[in-house]
Amino acid sequence: MGTKPVSIQLPSVLREMSETAIVFLYPAKCRVCDDLLGVARVPYICADCWQDIQFLEPPWCDICGIPGVNGLCDACATSPPRYGQLRTVALYQTTLQQAIHLFKFEKRKVFARHLVQLINAHIPVDCDVATYDFVLPIPIHKKRLRERGFNQATLLAAGIAEAAGVPVLTNTLVRKRHTVAQSSLDREARQQNIVGAFDVLAPDIIRGKRLLVIDDVFTTGATIREAVNELWTVDPAEIDVLTLARTLSP
Ligand SMILES: [Zn+2]
Ligand SMILES: [Zn+2]
Repeated sequence: MGTKPVSIQLPSVLREMSETAIVFLYPAKCRVCDDLLGVARVPYICADCWQDIQFLEPPWCDICGIPGVNGLCDACATSPPRYGQLRTVALYQTTLQQAIHLFKFEKRKVFARHLVQLINAHIPVDCDVATYDFVLPIPIHKKRLRERGFNQATLLAAGIAEAAGVPVLTNTLVRKRHTVAQSSLDREARQQNIVGAFDVLAPDIIRGKRLLVIDDVFTTGATIREAVNELWTVDPAEIDVLTLARTLSP
């Protein structure tokens, strides 16, 4: 009998270290500007590009958080969303778009740490995470979880919740239906695709509680809207949302 190949599963800390070391030893190019990386604190992205992330500043819409608005934006004034407030850390463009792509689609789990640090250092002024009873990530279906190996929103939510000393609930809001990736669809199709995708397990835990829902990117809002609708079916006291990134197109 021949020798079987041995598969080595490095613990994630070692894997992260090796990713950083590889970048250090073999100078690669920045994924955003194409310059040599040099000694970058964040893998794949140079220090200059990392500095370029555009954090959102008030004024913003009281409800949906879209910047450049005092009070309510037109959309929220005519047809307010069902969350109390949605806040976002930074614009979904260039560097942050690339970082989220590396994290989510290229499965570079090392970005969880860097993005959590970024969020915790730039939490919007009117989003006090410590005041919520629970932090809940937008779930992904178990099929996607198997493909990717992690839920990016869960890793972000865990880092945000830990810094604020709030418990994170990962098995309460769940994805009951597998859907095609929202990023592959247009606005109307996204809404159709996500309807009925969520379920709330153990509703007693969140009844009457203040919830902060976390997601990585806010684009058309279809996913958030559907998750919030599902959460309201079990009567929490309040639902707010915090996302890492957002696009500005309506
Ligand atoms: Zn760069
Ligand atoms: Zn608004």
